[in-house]
Amino acid sequence: MNVSRRYTFTVVFDRKVRHRCYSAFLLRCLTFDLGVLRLRTMLQRVAVIGAGAAGLCAARHILSRPNSFAPPVVFELTSNVGGTWCYDERIGTYNNGWPIHSSMYRDLRTNLPKEVMMFPDFPFDPQLNSFLSHQEVQRYLERYCQRHNIRPHIRFSTVVEKVKPVVVTKEDKEKTTTWEVTSSDSSGFQKTETFDSVFVCSGHYSDPHIPDIPGMENFKGKVLHSHSYRFAEPFSGQSVVVLGAKASGLDISIELAKASAQVTLSHGRPRLTFPLPSGIQQSSPVVAIEDDGSIRFQDGSMAWADVLMFCTGYNFSYPFLDGDQLGLEIQDHMVSPLYRFLVPPAFPSLFFIGICKIICPFPNFDCQVQFALAVLDGSVSLPPQAEMEDEVRRALHEKVERGVQRRHLLIMDQDQWEYCWTLAQTAGFPPLPPVVRSLYEEVWRQRQVHPENYRRINYRLISDTEWEVIN
Ligand code: FAD
Repeated sequence: MNVSRRYTFTVVFDRKVRHRCYSAFLLRCLTFDLGVLRLRTMLQRVAVIGAGAAGLCAARHILSRPNSFAPPVVFELTSNVGGTWCYDERIGTYNNGWPIHSSMYRDLRTNLPKEVMMFPDFPFDPQLNSFLSHQEVQRYLERYCQRHNIRPHIRFSTVVEKVKPVVVTKEDKEKTTTWEVTSSDSSGFQKTETFDSVFVCSGHYSDPHIPDIPGMENFKGKVLHSHSYRFAEPFSGQSVVVLGAKASGLDISIELAKASAQVTLSHGRPRLTFPLPSGIQQSSPVVAIEDDGSIRFQDGSMAWADVLMFCTGYNFSYPFLDGDQLGLEIQDHMVSPLYRFLVPPAFPSLFFIGICKIICPFPNFDCQVQFALAVLDGSVSLPPQAEMEDEVRRALHEKVERGVQRRHLLIMDQDQWEYCWTLAQTAGFPPLPPVVRSLYEEVWRQRQVHPENYRRINYRLISDTEWEVIN
């Protein structure tokens, strides 16, 4: 109907009118193109470092805001997405000499159920059990990447080597910061590009932390860190001292004991009271290796072992950043000051996603990314630099007063729920449903009581506030 009316209208035009119309059309096209051009030049360019869960989440939210942001450039040093979930049986370095990133072991099952582990807007396959293999998490992240069409924006096998702020003072004395990002691809070709902001999503579970132990050089057996542990069979029949009894220390001890290793689980926590498989005995922390290679524990006891397995966590490591230049103290266990555990007050267009420990990672990343984008698009205004620095200082001081050790200052634990809620309230996106916290806390309780069997339980979410056990 409309089409035929338009046709009739055109045929009655005389030539002059038609010419005028054509000129108007051209002008409209031109102004439209200029509009797009102007819009394009106003769009912010964001560099995302890493295509693990955090980087994919950042890319997904940037792509969903095409009026404010150009498609991101995601730099990924490996040839795949998934970060630490991309299991690699190799240890040491890749063919190109870069250190192996993933810390996954072959038989790992998640320590969180899929019902709370998922990104809030992207459930896992309902057919899967609650506790997943690393392959299932990897497939989930690949599906997430596909659903949001992120892959075309990822530069694989490309390592970010340097991120440098460039501060320009404009005529009105206002300062603007852009970021020079220097990267190298697998052929060694180096490139520097400029961005308006940078999301650091490079993870913090790949640079092994090995505490200083006096006399370490005297140890005659094998020394390794959980980062380089893949499976238990090679340790069958051996005596292994596992240092550290957090998630990995406990899991790996159980795997080793099941493979008939004799395990000494050495840690400084109160004695674990839940049932451990036979083959695991507990001991106090290792304090020294004697000249003859024997191991001395804090309580004065001595032992020999074939293997020392360090499950002692990871260092924060950002070789592409210059902490001094950014006003940041970057140490093995601490990066500070970061306002809201996210942004250096002196450079509020640089964001660290997922830096906190003992959190529900994917939902936490999702909240941080949405908050960061709200800062960048202007819907959230950050306080002045000095105020942000004061807030961080005060919060850290309070924690230290409460007796929290400096190396534990980035552990969020109980505080994570209020933290995520505050980010959501401030930036105006839906908060995490209360069921996430409730199920997370239930699983945490189960883990303390049945560290070997808690993964056999399957859960189902009933509503935003309720869950149930389904087996
Ligand atoms: P990563 O997954 O580490 O990804 C970082 C990415 O950045 C990598 O792909 C890396 O190649 C890339 N990269 C690093 N540096 C550069 C650079 N300079 N240039 C370019 N690219 C770079 N979480 C859970 O929710 N549930 C669990 O059960 C669970 N179990 C875990 C078990 C183990 C053994 C480990 C190590 C972690 C576990 N986690 C678990 C936590 C896990 O780290 C997070 O779930 C999440 O995967 C972290 O994602 P990320 O993107 O921050 O880091």
